[in-house]
Amino acid sequence: MKIRVDEIPDSGRVLHVHWTQERLERLLPPNDPKGFCLARPLNVDLEIHKKPDHLEVTGTIAGKLTLTCDRCLDEYPSDLWRTVRVLLFRESLGPKEEEVELEPDELDYEFFDGEILEVDRMIAEEIFLELPIRRLCSEQCRGLCPGCGANLNREPCLCPTRKVSSAFEVLRKFKPGNA
Ligand SMILES: [Zn+2]
Ligand SMILES: [Zn+2]
Repeated sequence: MKIRVDEIPDSGRVLHVHWTQERLERLLPPNDPKGFCLARPLNVDLEIHKKPDHLEVTGTIAGKLTLTCDRCLDEYPSDLWRTVRVLLFRESLGPKEEEVELEPDELDYEFFDGEILEVDRMIAEEIFLELPIRRLCSEQCRGLCPGCGANLNREPCLCPTRKVSSAFEVLRKFKPGNA
């Protein structure tokens, strides 16, 4: 979805979108290992206001994602709630350093061509910013066994560690006799 700046009324524009997996896919290269998908379409509520030298986009993105656990590689659901506040400046009219007192966590500013607001791209960026850095299905996730690959949350490890160690013990018992 793209919005032309000259079609945004002075009173602003309100957007309510059910943002789908398909829209996300369209922005990414095929088979991109993004490690998440939308469990269902996200509820995106945004307001876009024209300011003298920039656009201000505020609102929320809410819904549920399906993430992949870093340890066991299972998928698990994760709630998404992102408060959006992005200021978009025309590339040629970027804010001068001294004019912007940014509180890094409070707002974002970005640049665009001044004519077309790429709404889908902006929404995708906001979702990426909200993704947890460490993705765990639970704090107690026991992960995969590096030996046999068993998902230790629900399967026993099948590595023959006990047999190996008992074999060593057998060898040890034999050694003195052989020496
Ligand atoms: Zn896990
Ligand atoms: Zn194992």
